[in-house]
Amino acid sequence: MILANKLKLFLYHFHVIYALVTGGTRGIGRAITEALVNEGYRIAVLYHGSDNRAKELREMGVLTLKCNVGDRAQVSNAKKEIEKEFPRLDALVNNAGIWYLMPFEQFDEEKYEEMIKVNLNGVIYVTYEFLPLLKRSENPSIVNVSSNAGIGTAAEGTTFYAITKAGVIILTRRLAFELGKYNIRVNAVAPGWIETDMTLGGKAPEEGNKLRELFRNKTFLHTTGKPEDIANIVSFLASKRARYITGQVIVADGGRMDNLTHSL
Ligand code: NAP
Repeated sequence: MILANKLKLFLYHFHVIYALVTGGTRGIGRAITEALVNEGYRIAVLYHGSDNRAKELREMGVLTLKCNVGDRAQVSNAKKEIEKEFPRLDALVNNAGIWYLMPFEQFDEEKYEEMIKVNLNGVIYVTYEFLPLLKRSENPSIVNVSSNAGIGTAAEGTTFYAITKAGVIILTRRLAFELGKYNIRVNAVAPGWIETDMTLGGKAPEEGNKLRELFRNKTFLHTTGKPEDIANIVSFLASKRARYITGQVIVADGGRMDNLTHSL
């Protein structure tokens, strides 16, 4: 009896949990990758251009693959590579994303299409390709990173970006519906204004501070978000602790007044 319990404990500790994080090199995806590595997951990361960041991740034991998630053939090739090392996938985090700030009257079709390709088609391609690996897991989970822009908050220039993120939300709900029969849970997190390259990259400190203040003033909590705020939610949603949760969108935005009180 004691031996059996010891064996169970051994197997529990040495049971590897496999996850794939897209866009795990920087910002929110990086925080998610580090959180899951610290929890003992074996991680694969798809990234686009940050070779140096990918090298850092490899030194942490992460499997990295350069792959544009908006290109179906590249995603298919990445899957073939990952499959050589991962017997299954327990968690898929569709995080990779881009944004171009563009008021409606400055509609630029090329930029719009690129956002659709990466932010929306990327989620479809990656999920489609990795579905067979997810089906092999006992606790399979997909977490999509949407945005509070996708539920109706209003920030200048984010209309087209918001369309892509609203698409991710409806995709999350429909996938939860379609994949529930495989016990695959599908949820999304919708972050508010998080301090990353996406929001602050290339900006002078003064401009960054102005933006921080602008977005602080839009929230009940009078604060902006950190990548770790989102990583904590993803870690929970991916785990067995969330076994009864699917089809949900967790908004983490400090309480955005332009959504909650119908004011700006
Ligand atoms: P970020 O700092 O700009 O990082 C973006 C990540 O996505 C990088 O790892 C990047 O890889 C990867 N990526 C970009 N295009 C890719 C492509 N075509 N194929 C594969 N990987 C690609 O952005 P972030 O702020 O962390 O945003 C992460 C996610 O959260 C995005 O989906 C974003 O829309 C969403 N979000 C962000 C905020 C915010 O305020 N920051 C708010 C709401 C939602 P490389 O490093 O190789 O370029």
